[in-house]
Formats: sequence, structure tokens, C-alpha cells
Amino acid sequence: AKAEKRGSYVVFGEGFEQELQQRLKTTIELRHCIELNELRIEYQPQFCLKTKEMSGVEALVRWHHQGQLISPVVFIPIAEKSGLIITIGAWILEQACRQQVSWFQETGRSLRVAVNVSVRQLVDPGFLNTLDSILSRTGIDPVQLELEITESMMMNDQSQMILILQAIQDRGVTIAIDDFGTGYSSLKYLQELPVNRLKIDRTFVSSMSASVKDQQLVKLMIEMGHLVDLTLIAEGVEEESEGELLSTLGCDEAQGYFYSRPQPANIITQMLTG
Ligand code: C2E
Ligand code: CA
Ligand code: CA
Ligand code: CA
Repeated sequence: AKAEKRGSYVVFGEGFEQELQQRLKTTIELRHCIELNELRIEYQPQFCLKTKEMSGVEALVRWHHQGQLISPVVFIPIAEKSGLIITIGAWILEQACRQQVSWFQETGRSLRVAVNVSVRQLVDPGFLNTLDSILSRTGIDPVQLELEITESMMMNDQSQMILILQAIQDRGVTIAIDDFGTGYSSLKYLQELPVNRLKIDRTFVSSMSASVKDQQLVKLMIEMGHLVDLTLIAEGVEEESEGELLSTLGCDEAQGYFYSRPQPANIITQMLTG
């Protein structure tokens, strides 16, 4: 199948059959990505809007495959469908925890590291065991680890989800709801869920400057979150004015290209020491 280059990422050509074939090919190749050492993790800084200090980083996986950089938007769904996300996700989690510990050892700064977790990983019966072994193997302080779970997938089986999230929190690990505002979380639901942080989806951040309605919506999300003792972080901040507006609206933290693009670990080390 033909792969077309858009930006630095490869986007696969359209057409159903072609897509199926491509997915099969990718699944087979994805099986070897860890042993071939093709995965890299980049870290995007998150900043406290009050102190302007780096408060954490989000781990974002990259797949360097046959001379190309394949977007996680392309291969994560394939890893989820094939079940490979269990192994790949565990690898990512371990790398991120190890990195958090080295930053602490190298710089004396204890940075929160947020790791994206798919629902497929969470509901896997082995997940808590995996988490426990990674926590003990890496020696990370669990309070410095955050798991990001997208709002839409929280909708699946709520009672099962609550139990898993509670077990994670019992270990000291925090939970953030990713892409917040794109699903249907009610205030009551938010109050009942064992979560610590809401990540306002970047679609709201990019539209709030131009739309008063969207600005009010963001304000409401922040107030609603604070009402039930959650911390708010906005993603996709690309303009200084957006950061200022979020700060005025009471948002706690922000992340986005305006502050920094995702970076290799050594650049984060430099940012911490420089
Ligand atoms: P996400 O979790 O919503 O991650 C944020 C995405 O927005 C990242 O794209 C990030 O590079 C990008 N981004 C950050 N700041 C800005 C900005 O100011 N403007 C714009 N336009 N974009 C910004 P990325 O790295 O391509 O990741 C895409 C998605 O792939 C992630 O969305 C997440 O759903 C998934 N993903 C990435 N890494 C992992 C992982 O380790 N595990 C899992 N399960 N999913 C992952
Ligand atoms: Ca995320
Ligand atoms: Ca997000
Ligand atoms: Ca997103």
C-alpha cells in the first residue's frame, strides 16, 4: 500500500482494502518494535500557570520504523485492536518511570510524569500486577506518576472502571481525565470517580479566544472541576494570549507548543538544570 508523507508523519492512503492490508502489515511489524528498539518516548513539559515552573511532563510515544516516523494516532489504535498495546503500554510505562527516577537523580528535581493508558490496558486482568512490578522495579515515588485516561473510554463500564481507578489511587498514583469536555461527564459522575485532574481538550483551548461561548465553557469546566476538588490543566496552548486567558480563568496548569513541543529526555534534563 502507498504511504503518503504529510509533514514529518506518514499518513496511509485511503481505500478500504488498502487500509486493511496496511493495518495487517503494520500489526505484523508492530510486533517487533520493542525488540528492534524502534520506540522512543518524548516528553512534553507542563507548567504551573501561577509560578511558571515546570510541574510535570507528558510521555508521548514515537515509532521510528524503516526510516519513517509513524504517528501514535496511526499505530496506537492498531496496537489496541491487536492486543499489542498490553506489552507496548507496559514498556512505555516502565521507560517513563525510569526516566522520572533518573531526572531526580541527575537534577534533584522530582517531576510528575504523566503516561497515557488505553482502556484495553486498564481492563486487562494483569494491569495492576504490571503497575506494581514497574513501581517496585523502577523505585519511582508513586505520587510522581500520573495515568491519563481519555474521557470517552471512561464511559464503558463505570463500576468496573471505578474499582480499577480506585486501586490505582490506593497506590498513590494519580489519575487525569484526558480530552475532557469531549465526552459526557456530569458533575455527579466526576464527584464519584476516583480522579485527580482534568485535562481540558485542546479544541476548547483553540476556539476560546474567538468564541465567547467557548470561553464561558472553559470557565465553567474550571469552576466545575475546582468545585469537586480537581486540578485543571489545559492542553494545546499555542499562543501566549491563550495561556494568559487560561490563567485569568483560574486554570492551574498548561501544556502546548507555546511553552514547548514534546522533547527527548535529555532536553528536559537541560531545561531542569539550565
Ligand atoms: P493526547 O494524549 O491528547 O496527546 C496530545 C497530543 O497533542 C500529542 O500528539 C502532542 O504532541 C500534541 N500537542 C501537544 N501540544 C500541542 C499544541 O500546542 N498544538 C497541537 N496542535 N498539538 C499539540 P501525539 O504525540 O501525536 O499523540 C497523539 C495521541 O496519541 C495522544 O493524544 C494519545 O492519545 C496517543 N498517544 C501518544 N502516546 C501514547 C502512549 O504512550 N500510549 C497511548 N495509549 N496513547 C498514546
Ligand atoms: Ca494525553
Ligand atoms: Ca489530550
Ligand atoms: Ca487528544
